[in-house]
Amino acid sequence: MSFKALNLSPKLLKTIESLGYTKPSEIQQKSIPLLLNRKDIVATSQTGTGKTASFVFPLLENIEEENIKRTGDERYKIKALILAPTRELVIQIHKKIELYGENFTHKSVALYGGIKLGSQVSAIRAGANIAVGTTARVLDHIKNGSLNLVEVKMVVLDEADKMLEMGFIDEIREILSQLPKERQSVMFSATFPKSIRSLAKSFLINPITVEIDKSNLSSKQIKQKVNYVKEEEKIPLLSTIVRLNKWNRVLLFTNTKFQADKIVESLRNDKVKASAIHGDKSQSMREEALKKFKNGDISVLVATDVAGRGIDIIDLPYVINFELPIKSEDYIHRVGRTGRAGKVGEALSLVCKKELNRLKEIEELINKKLDVITTEGFNFEIDIESKKKDKKRGVNLKKAKELAEKMMGKDKFDSKNSTKNRKSTSKSPRNKRHF
Ligand code: AMP
Repeated sequence: MSFKALNLSPKLLKTIESLGYTKPSEIQQKSIPLLLNRKDIVATSQTGTGKTASFVFPLLENIEEENIKRTGDERYKIKALILAPTRELVIQIHKKIELYGENFTHKSVALYGGIKLGSQVSAIRAGANIAVGTTARVLDHIKNGSLNLVEVKMVVLDEADKMLEMGFIDEIREILSQLPKERQSVMFSATFPKSIRSLAKSFLINPITVEIDKSNLSSKQIKQKVNYVKEEEKIPLLSTIVRLNKWNRVLLFTNTKFQADKIVESLRNDKVKASAIHGDKSQSMREEALKKFKNGDISVLVATDVAGRGIDIIDLPYVINFELPIKSEDYIHRVGRTGRAGKVGEALSLVCKKELNRLKEIEELINKKLDVITTEGFNFEIDIESKKKDKKRGVNLKKAKELAEKMMGKDKFDSKNSTKNRKSTSKSPRNKRHF
C-alpha cells in the first residue's frame, strides 16, 4: 500500500516524500483511514512502529478541514489535545507535529512541567490549535484559565498504559471531563491490562480495536540476549562489554535514579563517556545529555524507565538492561527503543541470581527465551532446577500471562506451549544458567 492510497492531501504527501517515508507502516495503514473517518480507536502499538504519524497525519488533515470553515481568531482555538506520560514524549510528539505539519496552518504547543507556565501561556495565546501535554501541566493550565478545551474535536491518549501505571488516572478523568462529549477519542497503548480496558470503555464511543500483526512485535529486528553475572560484578562487566565491543551508542536502563548516577560515575572512572537522564535532572540537563548522546559525544546514556520513554533515536543499536525492570511490561518498552523504523538492534540484559524469577516472568510475557551470552572473565553457573526447589516464586505469572495473551495472541500461551515445553534457544547446557 502507498501513502497516496490512504487519501492524504497533496501537501502532506509532499512532506512524507521529503522525509523519505516510502510506505506506510502497518499501524499507519490500519489507523489512518479510520481516524480520517473520525472513528474512535483503541490501538495496540509500541513505540518504534510509526504510531505517532498514524494519529498525527489524520489529526492534521481533520483539523485543517475545520479551519477552512473558520476565519480570524476562530482558527486558533485548541481543536486537538494529546496527552502523554512524560515531558520527553510530549516534546517528541510536538516536534513530529511541527515536522509533519510544515505545510499546514496549525500551531502546536507543548505543555509540560519543569519550566514556568508563562512561556506556555504566551504560546497558547499566540494562537495554538493543537496542545500536547503531560496530564499535570494540562491541568495546571486549565486551573490557571489559560487553556480552554471546549472546542476540542479530537483527543489522543498516547502510551495510556504508562499513564495509568504512573498513577495519572484521576488527572486523565478530570481533563476528559472538560472536553465536549461530541469528539473523536483515540487511545494508544503497548499493553492492555484490565485498567486500560475499563478506561477505554468509559471514554471511547464504540471504539474499533486496531492491532498490529503480533509477529511484527518480534519482527522488529532486535536480538535479545542475557549475560548472567554476579551482582557485584555488573559494573565491571558493563565497562568491559562497552569497551571490548567499542559500543558507542548504548541506552542503558536501570531501576533507580541513585543507581543511574552510580553507574555514570563508575563508567566515567573507567574512561567511558556517560551521562544520566532521570527525574532529578532539570529539563535543560536532560536535553543536554540527550543532545550529547545523539551527537556521539557520550557513548552510554543511563536512563530510568520514566525518563527513557520519550527518547526517540532512530539509530540506536544497543539497549542494555543493567537491571531487569520490576514490571515485566517495562522490558518490552525498554527493548523497543532499539530496532526502530526497521533498523537492526541488540538488547542485552545483565542478570544476577536474585533476578532469575523476573527473567522467567519476562520470558513468559514475550514468549521467547533470551539467548545466553558469556563474557570472558565473568562466567559461573547455577543449577536452576535446584534453585526452583529452594525458592518459591514470588511473581504473578497469571498477570504476566494475561498481558501476554492480550499482546501476542492467546493460542500461543496454551499450556502445551508453555516455556517449560519450549525448546531452549540458549547455548548453555540444559537447566544451567551461566553467571
Ligand atoms: P514512532 O513509533 O512514531 O515513534 O516512530 C518511529 C520512527 O519511525 C520515527 O522516528 C519516524 O520518523 C519513523 N517513521 C514513521 N513512519 C515511518 C514510515 N512510514 N516509514 C519510515 N519511517 C517512519
